[in-house]
Amino acid sequence: MRYISTRGQAPALNFEDVLLAGLATDGGLYVPENLPRFTQEEIASWAGLPYHELAFRVMRPFVTGSIPDADFKKILEETYGVFSHNAVAPLRQLNGNEWVLELFHGPTLAFKDFALQLLGRLLDYVLEKRGERVVIVGATSGDTGSAAIEGCKHCENVDIFILHPHNRVSEVQRRQMTTIFGENIHNIAIEGNFDDCQEMVKASFADQSFLKGTRLVAVNSINWARIMAQIVYYFYAALQLGGPARSVSFSVPTGNFGDIFAGYLARNMGLPINQLIVATNRNDILHRFMSGNQYVKETLHATLSPSMDIMVSSNFERLLFDLHGRNGAAIAGLMDTFKQGGGFSVEQERWTEARKLFDSLAVDDAQTCETIAEVFEQTGELLDPHTAIGVKAARECRRSLDIPMVILGTAHPVKFPDAVEKAGVGKALELPAHLSDLFERDERCTVLPNDLKAVQAFVSQHGNRGKPL
Ligand SMILES: *Cc1c(COP(=O)(O)O)cnc(C)c1O
Repeated sequence: MRYISTRGQAPALNFEDVLLAGLATDGGLYVPENLPRFTQEEIASWAGLPYHELAFRVMRPFVTGSIPDADFKKILEETYGVFSHNAVAPLRQLNGNEWVLELFHGPTLAFKDFALQLLGRLLDYVLEKRGERVVIVGATSGDTGSAAIEGCKHCENVDIFILHPHNRVSEVQRRQMTTIFGENIHNIAIEGNFDDCQEMVKASFADQSFLKGTRLVAVNSINWARIMAQIVYYFYAALQLGGPARSVSFSVPTGNFGDIFAGYLARNMGLPINQLIVATNRNDILHRFMSGNQYVKETLHATLSPSMDIMVSSNFERLLFDLHGRNGAAIAGLMDTFKQGGGFSVEQERWTEARKLFDSLAVDDAQTCETIAEVFEQTGELLDPHTAIGVKAARECRRSLDIPMVILGTAHPVKFPDAVEKAGVGKALELPAHLSDLFERDERCTVLPNDLKAVQAFVSQHGNRGKPL
């Protein structure tokens, strides 16, 4: 399988190279040159497979030529073996034909484990074969950092540096990062905000001389392997609800358009999906596009669903590429306009095409809390604020009551106690068994000033299993 850039000017890569790449050299994002397509009979024959076996069948075409089948199977069995629920991604019924797909039974209790547990293992496998080492430098406001550290903690060939804003992530989220020890794991608290952290990561990708030749790898959802891993659970859910003989709809709490883009790909690979609902919080650039064909940046708002607090949606470029007939020059033009502060609309027929599949809703904090309270009262299920936004959007935007509606449950409520408390639900939140002593564990973290040179010096001093590069 070959991968091409959404801006048309970068060289095509194979899976191994795309795994190790960040942005393409032309500033675009990598996508498969040709998407695999499965027949209905083929998909139907996968009913009842355990998660890791289904994962093998769905992802195999993407890694062909880079990873032999037997090795890939083994990696997948290990990856999904660490999840605490036997079903890996269990479906829970809320109402007639309304389901939550629980994606929070991984080590860090959020859906990012599905991709990052796999990414860490794939990196190590590929690097071992090539006799190389890499460094990861990533920024986090919470979920990505802990999932990336958990995913890479056993990697022999990866050193990981995660930057978080000092004193600005919740205690649970901080402890999920700082209580994991290893000579290749480095938590850095920056005396600044999340944007400062992200800027430093971007600047480090732009000029990698401080790494003395070691390669820098991206762990955010610009990395293709993350999107790839998320395609699987759309098939898994649909197969349990009568697919592919029957079509299914999904509502996806989204920020960077990564998770929902995976759903779009599942459909293009042959899975009958009737409707995809983009569920955002008050940071609603995607909702403004889907409802009014305006893709325009606005100021950032802090919300009760912080993992979706974004101003721009990086993966949206991958959808735009398809909507424009995969014309890289057109995408480069749109992105230039956007960068100059213009924002843009797309031609009417392209927007209409998108709206055949996508609907959207923006849900504010008050509605989020109302939904948590309402669902708890109706069903006894306690939702995290991100999932609650998905439920609200599903109920408002649903096209047909006859088609099963699956809401992606992106996090465990214990990660977001503020929202649960504000919702007034009188249920004590309990950490799952593997994290029950989280508040007693020792922490390890280095506080650094908001200064790029200081951070880069730290990375080059510690980037080789704690020793200098
Ligand atoms: C990252 C995250 C999201 C948003 O996912 P995208 O792929 O950026 O759309 C939603 N919910 C939770 C809990 C997350 O951690």
